[in-house]
Amino acid sequence: MKITRRVLVTGALGQIGSELTTALCERYGYDNVVATDLKDDRSVFDGRVAFEPLDVMKPEQIDAALERHRIDTVYHLAAVLSAIAEMAPLKAWHINMDGLFYVLEAARTRRCAVFFPSSIGAFGPTTPLDGTPQDAIQRPNTMYGVTKVSGELLCDYFHKRYGVDTRGVRFPGIISNVTPPGGGTTDYAVTIFYEAIKRKRYACILRGDTSLDMMYMPDAIKAAIMVMEADPSRLRHRNSFNVTAMHFTPEVLAAEIRKHIPEFVMDYKVDEMRQAIADSWPNWMDDRAAREEWDWAPDYDLPRMTADMIAVLRDRSEANVL
Ligand code: NAD
Repeated sequence: MKITRRVLVTGALGQIGSELTTALCERYGYDNVVATDLKDDRSVFDGRVAFEPLDVMKPEQIDAALERHRIDTVYHLAAVLSAIAEMAPLKAWHINMDGLFYVLEAARTRRCAVFFPSSIGAFGPTTPLDGTPQDAIQRPNTMYGVTKVSGELLCDYFHKRYGVDTRGVRFPGIISNVTPPGGGTTDYAVTIFYEAIKRKRYACILRGDTSLDMMYMPDAIKAAIMVMEADPSRLRHRNSFNVTAMHFTPEVLAAEIRKHIPEFVMDYKVDEMRQAIADSWPNWMDDRAAREEWDWAPDYDLPRMTADMIAVLRDRSEANVL
């Protein structure tokens, strides 16, 4: 059965939004998706997607946009990411919490479903870091993590108290090749590919043995769409599902890249702040709840993702557009 939706995306110009928005357009029709962001740069979508500036700190703008476009589903991606949040905690608190509250409140009055992307950052050093269970202790020690746990709780609150159809996933680090990442702790796993193609060398900002959960963008998009389309009667959880596809250390990733670029060299320039954040995050999450409740399964493992990233970036490098 074909599902039709009227979707609004916040933070649509970011790393995830720039690709998820296009995927939503392809699934629900270009006339049924509105991309919004604080930045006003509609050139990102080549004029094919309806775009308007929207600040999630302005509740009246959110409400008006939902009404004007007769929206039934909001993908709320606008946020401040982990490394930036450590440098600007109050700003992160306001945007990640107040912005989410305003979106949920507008969704309540306009009867919209809401997708909320939580993160491996919602866990902390007292969480079991290997095979992190769906329902685990969550005592993050970063401002980003504090806002992600609170966001999960707020979404569950709006569902239980008001019946808003809130759903979310805990994304691991997302690897992509369209829009650069926006200041997260797992950004190295994207930068390494660009440096491997351009300079055959990369100074890694994390220690070589730092294991982190990761996912290639096509799988992140698939998860975001699948969870919103899932049969609600099967959902025991809502905010937020662990989803994972692969986990590796910088050393393992560098070795995989060397299978394609044998001369690639990696050395280290460890950023202590990001290292401390990475050390407090899961090495890999257990995503059985997502598999059981909405049939989640990723398509890309480390070798497949690496081969695809290198093929795409090589093509762009040869065309001088890297
Ligand atoms: P990003 O930083 O690349 O993009 C965020 C976007 O939000 C930016 O385009 C920015 O302009 C916009 N924004 C900031 N303040 C705004 C405001 N006041 N109003 C409207 N827009 C505003 O982030 P991303 O990587 O695309 O992440 C999207 C979501 O997914 C975030 O909630 C993030 O926490 C979550 N997430 C991302 C990852 C990842 O690896 N990228 C992993 C886990 C969770």
